[in-house]
Amino acid sequence: MRKSKQRDAIVRVLMSTKSHPTAEWIYEEVRKEMPNLSLGTVYRNLRMMKEKGEILELEQTGTFRRFDGNSANHYHFRCEKCSRVFDIDEPLVAGIDERVEKSTGFKVSHHRLEFRGLCRDCVTARNDS
Ligand code: ZN
Ligand code: MN
Repeated sequence: MRKSKQRDAIVRVLMSTKSHPTAEWIYEEVRKEMPNLSLGTVYRNLRMMKEKGEILELEQTGTFRRFDGNSANHYHFRCEKCSRVFDIDEPLVAGIDERVEKSTGFKVSHHRLEFRGLCRDCVTARNDS
């Protein structure tokens, strides 16, 4: 099997979802059309794409690393109950990188921001019970 064909399928699956999937989820999806695919191949391709800046890997305090096909800097909300990760459609905080550079003398490349709490579904479920 051509390597680029596997890579294309991995990219297609990752771009087709906003769920910030794990490598294992991507593997299961791509395997539906490429049964010979290995999990190692998925990991290797995700790592390469991440190093090229084509995808994001979300910082993770939980067990599974999650990936994002949208490589532009944007913010996330992580539900503390169901662990889903959502995109937050807010403009980036302006000037904060420069402020940190000025106060520390560090060279900032970018910043990440992740909100935590309960998603709409989990708030509703809690209120219903
Ligand atoms: Zn939730
Ligand atoms: Mn995202």
